[in-house]
Amino acid sequence: MIVGDFEILDERYRLFVRSARLDKLHIGCRWAEGPAYFPAGRYLVWSDIPNDRMLRFDECDGSVSVFRQPAGNSNGNTVDRQGRLVSCEHGNRRVTRTEHDGSITVIADRFNGKRLNSPNDVVVKSDGSIWFTDPTYGVDTDYEGNKGEVEQPACCVYRVDGQTGAIAVTTDSMVRPNGLAFSPDERTLYVSDTGRSHVKDGPRHMRRFAVADDARLTDQGVFAECTVGVFDGFRLDAEGRIWTSAHDGVHVYDPTDATLLGKVRVPEFVANLCFGGPKRNYLYICGTTSLYGVRLPVNGAKTI
Ligand code: MG
Repeated sequence: MIVGDFEILDERYRLFVRSARLDKLHIGCRWAEGPAYFPAGRYLVWSDIPNDRMLRFDECDGSVSVFRQPAGNSNGNTVDRQGRLVSCEHGNRRVTRTEHDGSITVIADRFNGKRLNSPNDVVVKSDGSIWFTDPTYGVDTDYEGNKGEVEQPACCVYRVDGQTGAIAVTTDSMVRPNGLAFSPDERTLYVSDTGRSHVKDGPRHMRRFAVADDARLTDQGVFAECTVGVFDGFRLDAEGRIWTSAHDGVHVYDPTDATLLGKVRVPEFVANLCFGGPKRNYLYICGTTSLYGVRLPVNGAKTI
């Protein structure tokens, strides 16, 4: 059932306020990605990858400004437990952290002595470890990075130890790992695979892994197949439901039975999203040229 800007496919949960409408907050990006919300300052930072810049939306007055340019063709961003920006940089083939004093620390740029491909998306676990995906989109062409040689034998999901800085592969079993997020209890890791971009009939699904105390992953198989386009970035709400990008908007999945519960209908391809606002009940959506948002009757999982 379509109600305004929403499609309701399962009525077990109240995911949307039917009278709410999608806000168009900004236009003028080439490929909007990587939204990260900073509750202390009530602003959102996101990436405009092909334009090699990061933008900042001020939630208090609605203004948008350039946060960083050049930005190493940044892609996915997150905020760590100390409130610092962590960014995947296609152009520099690395993951960085922006410290409280504004200086930039390299978290990872190599594995086994070889350069990473082009880190895509990142999440920080409560133990301080930094998990990121490393597909090839930033080195395939100059469109969203720098065309370059792929040095790693696989597109992996990596984990960087928060204390030692040691980098390890957690899985090399995916074609093009992309978005990733933990369940609220951090016992489950979801990772999307956009391998169809490179392999005919390749994956366009989300995989689920059990996370052991020693960070080892156990593959639990495909969680959901994307029905429109591919799943790119995604986030979870406080109930563990998955709010994921797709080519017709945002799809919401139930974590227990993987039912597609509903959609936020967006008139552009969606690449990523995050919860924001003081109550984490405002969903920021990066949709190609534009930044969108919508107020929800649910709250995002607490990750800071
Ligand atoms: Mg991505």
